[in-house]
Amino acid sequence: MSAIDSLPPLAEVIRRHALTARKSLGQNFLLDLNLTAKIARQAGDLTACDVLEVGPGPGGLTRALLAEGARRVLAVEKDPRAMAPLAEIAAHYPGRLEVLNADALEIDPTAHLSAPIRVVANLPYNVGTELLTRWLSPPDWPPFWESLTLMFQREVAARITARPGSKAYGRLSILAQWRADARVVMELPPQAFSPPPKVHSAVVHLTALAAPRYPADPRALQSLTARAFQQRRKMLRASLKGLAPDLEDRLAAAGIKPTQRPEEIHLEQWCSLARSLAGGPQNPPGAPMQPHGPAS
Ligand code: SAM
Repeated sequence: MSAIDSLPPLAEVIRRHALTARKSLGQNFLLDLNLTAKIARQAGDLTACDVLEVGPGPGGLTRALLAEGARRVLAVEKDPRAMAPLAEIAAHYPGRLEVLNADALEIDPTAHLSAPIRVVANLPYNVGTELLTRWLSPPDWPPFWESLTLMFQREVAARITARPGSKAYGRLSILAQWRADARVVMELPPQAFSPPPKVHSAVVHLTALAAPRYPADPRALQSLTARAFQQRRKMLRASLKGLAPDLEDRLAAAGIKPTQRPEEIHLEQWCSLARSLAGGPQNPPGAPMQPHGPAS
C-alpha cells in the first residue's frame, strides 16, 4: 500500500508491467507519491475542476491528482505500455479517470473535458515547450485552461518566468507573462526521478489572466519579438531596421531608446511598439499606457 492510496507502490507497478523508461519518450518517472502529491497541490483546490494531464506514464501524478480530489482527470499518454497500469488506477477511481492512448500534440482535449479546466503535468521535455506555446497562443483568449502547473527543465522554467535585464529573458517570457501570471513553485534535483535526467527540473505555475496584460495583436507581438530576439546582441535600431521608415520615432513613443537591446525592453513597451508597428495609434511620448493587470 502506498502513501496516498491503497494501490501498489510505483516501483512494483513498473516492474509488473515491464515499463522500463524510454529516452525517446522523455520518460523520467516520479516514484515518490509524497512528491507527486506536493506537485498536485500546487494546482490548488481541484475538487470542482477537470484536469488535463499529459504524459501520465505509470501514473504517479495521476494518482496524486485523484487522491487530492480532482473532479475528473483526462490523462493523455503516447506509450501503449502504460495503458494497463493506468486502467488499474481508473478502476480504483470509478468514473473519474479517462485515459487516451494518443500523442498530446495531435488531440483536442476540450472535447473530453468540462470547464473549469486545469492542466497539471510532468511533461516530456521534448514536447513541453511546444505544448506550452500552443496553450499560450489559442485563437481566442481566455484559453480553455484556467491554470497550468507544469514540470520543465530548470533552464526552461527560468525562461518562462524571467524579467527584463536577465539572460533568460526572451520570447517565451514575453509570451507567458503577457497573458498569464507565471512563477516557479518547486525545484527538483535529478535524483527525484527514475532514471535521473542530466538536468535539474522546476515546476512552473501559470494562471491565465482574464485579458492580456496590455493590448496588442498576438501575431504582431510574436513577429516583433521573434525578429528582435533573433539577434539579441544587436541594438534595436539595427535588428528592427526596415520595419517602418520612422522606426526611431516609434521606438521613442514606446519609451525605447534605439540603442537598447531586446533583453532590456519591458512587456508594456513591447506591446506599445507592436501596436504602433501594426498601425494602431502611437502613444505620445510621456503618455501612460493602459495595462489590464499589474505591470511586470
Ligand atoms: N507523469 C509521469 C511521472 O511523473 O512519473 C511520467 C512523466 S515522463 C517525464 C513523460 C511522459 O510523457 C512519459 O510517460 C511519456 O511516455 C509521455 N509522452 C512523451 N511524449 C508524449 C506525447 N507526445 N504525448 C503524450 N505523452 C507523451
